[in-house]
Amino acid sequence: MNDGAGTETQVFGGENHSGRPARPLWPAIKRGLAGRCPHCGEGKLFYAYVKTVDKCSVCGEEISHHRADDLPAYLVIVIVGHIVVSAFMAVEMTTYWPMWLHMIVWAPLTLILSLLLLQPVKGAVVGLQWALYMHGFGDEADTIETHPEPTG
Ligand SMILES: [Zn+2]
Repeated sequence: MNDGAGTETQVFGGENHSGRPARPLWPAIKRGLAGRCPHCGEGKLFYAYVKTVDKCSVCGEEISHHRADDLPAYLVIVIVGHIVVSAFMAVEMTTYWPMWLHMIVWAPLTLILSLLLLQPVKGAVVGLQWALYMHGFGDEADTIETHPEPTG
């Protein structure tokens, strides 16, 4: 973008380089968090727990392009780990719970939080990939990404 004064306006995170319209990143992530299509915010993103629909039933956006893979699981581990470990340490420093009480509180809490967070976090990852035109979300052929051939 040139404003006529001889300076270039830099657009970070946009699609200035490709000529494609920038897709709003945070709204797409929030729609994914809520389990909605990142494009229209109306259609459902999941048909089962963490199974994404192939296509949005409202706007027809192809959802099957996403490659969330293991990222949602890694993010959930980081989030739940910070919540549970800090809660455990706070309780440990301020009370005298017996070991059995720690066990029956923190183990189920870890499991429940993980199960609750996996779907919204996966939705957010799909929203992010859609907004950034990653993988097949940019209309180009959805090719398999292979590892480079080893050299030497
Ligand atoms: Zn949609």
